[in-house]
Amino acid sequence: MERRKLILSTGNIHKVLEIKDILKDLPIEVLSKDELGFKDLDVEEDGKTLVENAIKKAKALKEKVDGMVMADDTGLFVDYLNGEPGIKSARYSEPNPTPEKNIAKLLKELNGVPMEKRTATFVTVIALITEDGRTITVEGQCKGYIGFEKKGSSGFGYDPLFIVDGYGKTFAELGEEIKNTISHRARALYNLRNEIMNVLEDGVDEDTSSK
Ligand code: IMP
Repeated sequence: MERRKLILSTGNIHKVLEIKDILKDLPIEVLSKDELGFKDLDVEEDGKTLVENAIKKAKALKEKVDGMVMADDTGLFVDYLNGEPGIKSARYSEPNPTPEKNIAKLLKELNGVPMEKRTATFVTVIALITEDGRTITVEGQCKGYIGFEKKGSSGFGYDPLFIVDGYGKTFAELGEEIKNTISHRARALYNLRNEIMNVLEDGVDEDTSSK
């Protein structure tokens, strides 16, 4: 019997490999949208919450493909900045945001703020839509501090600034192997894994509508 499929809305190769790794022992076939020829499917992330954005991205993909689909959205919420950059993490340094400019802006906003007030939380929300159109959302969090300067060379985005609680090192210093066991996205993915197992236990409810 053909295995049920899970299609990922991300095209980021790091995320695709991490997701495939965490879900590897489930009896499903995990494919990225790029592998199915939807590389250019871009969705404007204009929701007010991570949940809204994740669901919007998952729904846009579900309109194109059969099978289960999932989409994720992540934000870095800094307490001293009342939760900024949060939902705007990717475009914090608009116009023409880049990871470098985002980091520079965050350091500027926190200039002179002592370490104990630089607490922050990475949050990832994943939306899963099942074959029969049910939407399930899960979340993962990782707590830490925003450092005074960039440290480490692995990872991406805000990794060189985010000092993980209990480790005293940034994600960029810890490296991908450790990061991928403790990160916000890893935690969300383990929650997703449980939800997918429940969906699989419910039996096959294939969507037979033509796309
Ligand atoms: P996205 O929702 O994954 O596109 O992420 C939104 C923003 O958060 C982008 O600026 C990413 O670079 C940043 N980001 C997402 N995940 C991570 C992470 O694991 N480490 C550092 N930055 C991240």
